[in-house]
Formats: sequence, structure tokens, C-alpha cells
Amino acid sequence: MFRRILIANRGEIALRIMRACREMGIETVCVYSTADRNAPYLRLADRAICIGPGPARESYLNIPRLISAAEVADVDAIHPGYGFLSERADFSAICRDCKIEFIGPSPEAMGKLGDKVACKQTAKANKVPIFPGSDGAVEEEDEAVKVAEEIGYPVIIKASAGGGGRGMRVCRNEASLRTNIRAAQQEALAAFGNGAVFIEKFLEHARHVEVQCLGDKHGNAVYLWERDCSMQRRHQKVIEEAPAPNVDRKKMQAVCEAAARLVKAADYSGAATVEFLMDGAHNFYMLEVNTRVQVEHPVTEMITGIDIVKMSIMVAAGMPIPFKQKDVEIRGHAMECRINAEDPDKGFMPSAGKIEQWETPGGLGVRLDSHVVPGYVVPPNYDSMVGKLIVHAETREQCLDRMARALREFRVGPIKTTIPLHSRLVQDGAFRTGGVDIHYLERLLKG
Ligand code: ADP
Repeated sequence: MFRRILIANRGEIALRIMRACREMGIETVCVYSTADRNAPYLRLADRAICIGPGPARESYLNIPRLISAAEVADVDAIHPGYGFLSERADFSAICRDCKIEFIGPSPEAMGKLGDKVACKQTAKANKVPIFPGSDGAVEEEDEAVKVAEEIGYPVIIKASAGGGGRGMRVCRNEASLRTNIRAAQQEALAAFGNGAVFIEKFLEHARHVEVQCLGDKHGNAVYLWERDCSMQRRHQKVIEEAPAPNVDRKKMQAVCEAAARLVKAADYSGAATVEFLMDGAHNFYMLEVNTRVQVEHPVTEMITGIDIVKMSIMVAAGMPIPFKQKDVEIRGHAMECRINAEDPDKGFMPSAGKIEQWETPGGLGVRLDSHVVPGYVVPPNYDSMVGKLIVHAETREQCLDRMARALREFRVGPIKTTIPLHSRLVQDGAFRTGGVDIHYLERLLKG
């Protein structure tokens, strides 16, 4: 096992990784930018190293500075968390060259699953359900039109190297496809340094259902079942839950098995999430694979009892996954609300500043993953999430009631947060029935 790990991240996920390391007897080195210099979680690390100023490209995204810190602190491994450098194959490769273990997939495995065109091809070969669409990248306008005629409009143009909901264009007819294809290629090249785009069928009404997987360096891959993350705003997840409500469990199991096959086929080690859209008839279509631990991993931990962060560290150290697929059981229901420092009444305007009041909920089945303490100042430089409230209960209904109760206890001020929005959502009739689609929240906010 590793002696010492550097955490190349900040906020709640830095704390989450530190907690796993402490329980495993591993020393932690946490890096920070000057914008985070007073962050309380830094005191829980064995060592904290400043790596630069607030802007992420000068600190959390700065590879030479991170590697220097890792060498000065003499660590065995680096955990990238989520966001920042977590999905950068070049960072994984540089760590390997420096003889520091990257806690995540090899650059080769990341390449196979992180690039959307490559991933779709591996998925197809492994009988993972995908959207009808182009076989690989499309270059020419006429080629795009031919594909669209075969699969039928509407279609969506996507960048192979795209991410964060950027670089996608929906086309409802041939004229729109012809005008958008060249622009999409140019935009992809400018935004992601790779102009490859592809086309797939656009699904109007869908739910977002994703499968948590785990691979090791011995050729094993397992799935920890699914999460439903359909409650979204601007492609950002707002509430996640597990298991997905109202799905055909037989079909779900087949999709989970397919997801694990894909991870195995890529020789993947670490945590991975295979994302799908599901239509009204419960057909699944793969969207993409996230080659890292996700924000919403705790809901899966709550229903399976498996510590995903510890697992990611163990498999990086070369240990095999310590359980078999048949031992993974779903117990009860779990849900997570992402609490952001934003004002839902003012168009989700960021609400940075000092948090004077921070009264947190507790009690049976309540978990709060947050780096915030009273007096914490939310820096304006990074994303606005101040915590994740996760609850677990025997049934979905009890879970919703428990979440409503926990949200009521949660008092934060004077900054604005998304807590009031969450309180409304967990009491919303359609959400309580289960199975809202990915545009539900935006319709609700508009109406
Ligand atoms: P990114 O990597 O940018 O997040 P994804 O492929 O995961 O891109 O897609 C992001 C979102 O775009 C999805 O959650 C969904 O809302 C929408 N989307 C993507 N592909 C389709 C599709 N074929 N049909 C309908 N919606 C889609």
C-alpha cells in the first residue's frame, strides 16, 4: 500500500480523499492555491503545500507545479479527484514517467474511453447499447446528411473531445445540419484542440441513468449498479439518486453488465462511470464514460456499503478488487442534493463571500460531505458547490421524507444557496412519483 499520497484537488473532494487515506493509514499531502490558503480542511492533511495563485491554470491545473510538490513531498501517488486534471491522459502519462502512481486509469485506458468516438467504437464491439449515428468522425457535409437521412432527424452534432455540455448542436433538418457541421468542427478545434465531430440521433425525452463501475489491474471489472441523475439544469446535475426509480430491473442489470464489459475491454483500473440516456420505452443509449470518481459517488456508497474512494486507492496500488460481483447488493435508497452557493431566485447568480451561519443537519441516515465550517469564505475562483447532502433510507419515499427533513434543519447565511430549491423539489409531485426527464427542472423553473 502507498505510504503517502498527494491530493491534486480542493474543497469537498480533497477532504473526502483525506478521510479515506486517514482510515487506511496513508499520509496525505494537500496542495492549495492562495485563494484557498485559509481552508480548514488543510489542517487535516499531514502536509499542505501552496502551488500558486487563485486562477486554476496557475495552480490546480499547473502540472509542473504539482509534480514539483509531489517530488518535494516524496509521495508515492497522486489522487486527482474530479474536475481539474482528473481526465487528462497527459497528466496520467507524466505521473507514470515521474514514477508516481496516478490514482486512476492509464493514459491508454483513458484514451480508449475518454474520447467519445473511440469510446463508441469500443462500446459497439462489446455490445453496449449506443445511439444510432455515424461510424466514427464525419468530415464532409454530404456524409453528415447521408447519416442523418439513415437515422432520421433530429440529430445532434457532438465533438469527440467535448465535455462539460459544450460543443453540441441539435439539427432538425438538412438545411440546419449543412450550416452547422463546418461551424461545429471549427468550434471543436478551437475549444478542445481536436476538430473531430460525430453525429447521433437526438432523443427528445430522456432520463439520465449512469452505471458506476470499478476496474483493477488484474483484468477484473465490476458494477455497483446505477444512479439516476435526471434532475439537471444546463446539463449540470442537481439531484442524484440510487437505484433509479421505475426502471425494468432486468434491463437495468443487462446494461450494468454491458458497462462492466466495456471497462474490462479497455483494461481500465479505477472508478469509471458509463453514462446513458434512457427513453420512455426503457431503451438505453450510451452517452460517454467519465474516467474518474464522480461528484455523486456517495449515493452508490450508501446503497452498496462500498467505499469507492478507498477502492480507487487500493486498485491503483495493485490490489485486486476485494469482492465479487455477486456480493454487491442494493440496500435501500439514497439521494444526494448538491448545495451550491447560488441564488435560485436571481437566475442562479453565484453568491460568494463569508458564510456566517452554517447549521448542518444530522440524525439517522444523513451524511454531509462538505469542507465548509462557520466563518468559511467561498472563493470566487472555483465552482460554487459548498456541500453535498446525502441521505439513505429503506424506501424511496422514506428517503424523500428524510431529505425534506434534513434540508429543513440546514441553515446557511447570509450567502444564498440552492437549499430552498431542493426543499421544493423533494416535495414536487412529479419528482416524488419518480422518473422525471432531463428537461423537467428547466420546464419547472420557466413555468
Ligand atoms: P458532455 O461530455 O459535454 O457532458 P454528453 O455526451 O455527456 O456531453 O452530453 C451532455 C448532455 O447533452 C446530456 O446529458 C443530454 O442532456 C444531452 N445530450 C447528449 N447527447 C444527446 C442525444 N443523443 N440526445 C439527446 N440529448 C443528448
